[in-house]
Amino acid sequence: MNPFEKLGRSAQRLKHKAVGPSDDDVVYVCKDCEAQFTEESPECPSCESTDIVAVEP
Ligand SMILES: [Zn+2]
Repeated sequence: MNPFEKLGRSAQRLKHKAVGPSDDDVVYVCKDCEAQFTEESPECPSCESTDIVAVEP
C-alpha cells in the first residue's frame, strides 16, 4: 500500500469537514426571563440568572 495515498485521503477528509457549516447557531434561552442570546455565557446578560438552556437548531 502506498503510504502517501493514505495520507492524502485523510487530508481530503479533513478538508471536507472544514467546508461544512462552521457557524453553529445555538441559541441560549434564559429560563427566568426568557431572554434569548447567541453568545455562550454562564449567566443571562439581562437578569444574570444561571438558569440557561442551549437550544440547538
Ligand atoms: Zn434572564
